[in-house]
Amino acid sequence: MSNRHRTRQINVGDERTGVVAIGGDAPVSVQTMTAGYTWDIDACVAEINRMAEAGADIVRVAVPERKDTAALPEILRQTSVPLVADVHFHYERALEAIEAGIHKIRLNPGNISDRDQVNAVIDACRERGIPIRIGVNEGSIVERKDKQKRQLELGQFFSDQRHGHLMAIMIAKLEEYLDIFDARDFHDVCISAKSMEATLVIDVYREIARRFDYPLHLGVTHAGPKETGTIRSVVALGALLAEGVGDTIRISYASDSLHEVTDGLEMLYCLGLRDRVGPELIACPTCGRIQVDLFTLVDDVRRTLADEIELPIKVAVMGCIVNGPGEAEGADVAVFAGDRRGIIYVQGERVANVREDEIQARLLEECRRFEERVRRGEAKLGEKNVEIVPPDPIGDLGSGVAKIAAGDVEQVTIGKTD
Ligand code: SF4
Repeated sequence: MSNRHRTRQINVGDERTGVVAIGGDAPVSVQTMTAGYTWDIDACVAEINRMAEAGADIVRVAVPERKDTAALPEILRQTSVPLVADVHFHYERALEAIEAGIHKIRLNPGNISDRDQVNAVIDACRERGIPIRIGVNEGSIVERKDKQKRQLELGQFFSDQRHGHLMAIMIAKLEEYLDIFDARDFHDVCISAKSMEATLVIDVYREIARRFDYPLHLGVTHAGPKETGTIRSVVALGALLAEGVGDTIRISYASDSLHEVTDGLEMLYCLGLRDRVGPELIACPTCGRIQVDLFTLVDDVRRTLADEIELPIKVAVMGCIVNGPGEAEGADVAVFAGDRRGIIYVQGERVANVREDEIQARLLEECRRFEERVRRGEAKLGEKNVEIVPPDPIGDLGSGVAKIAAGDVEQVTIGKTD
């Protein structure tokens, strides 16, 4: 985006996996984390490969125990996406993961705070050219050892100043940790500061972007189940990304990690931060004009498109011909439902009028045919719009285009990606 907050750049990966750049002018990347145990090698490899196939740029694994880091060489051998080792309380796990060939280390300042231990990890990473994410987290910034101090800090959390207080602690923790890295002259770093509160995430990342030039890993921690976690994540991450803040994202759901990847990518597509891979489906919300079972149709079309179409064809499934054409503007393939029937268009050309029970199969057939034509160079994506004139489309008020031409309305230029 033209307003993108410029940061340093780090590189994650190697020759075999390909290198994913984070920060600078690199595209915003999507990360996720495996839910299973790393020591359960076959399951872990299957999960990582499923995430990579869904579009994850980077996958993180937790390595709390020696048996987890011991599994890393085999996991790295059987996967082809850059992997990050999340180290919890034991810096030795980081050293073991680095030795195994991991591509990035995540350290939580709330969990590893011994300067010598951090230095040992920094030195090992420098030797192998591996970056480190310094990730503070709302859940691990409160004092744990000193009971009195803990009570005092927790008390602050429940005061009116909670928001500012949490922000201050998170930033202080980051600064404290970054001092150690600075003293070691190690800058192959990205940073994160996660909370479950969307407003806190927005505020803290804005402040971090103002203070540091390290690439930012965005995330809302323990966002909850997908149903509500989506809203929480989109509000926080969408707001920041739209402002140009954020270089890599991880959406966290209490659900299949696959959703973290697909939703993260969709967010980046919507913001124009990544070029879409695969088909795009738009559909009307339905209203009293509907005369087919559109929700079932949309669900079926979504699944078959995801399975069978590779190119970013824009497909519209609209409930009627009244508002549908305008709403399907720009679709390559579109169906407009009528009285238990569907009229199918391919780039403005009407190609079929079929019964409701035939819509899905025929729509997919047209998508496949169109994809083949694009591959053969006989058609271009997004070249022609659906051209259907609905009854009385404009009415007495006149069209917006005519008003602009007459100078009655000022033309607005919308900011676009670089
Ligand atoms: S396309 Fe037709 S059915 Fe769908 S919401 Fe618009 S007016 Fe209603």
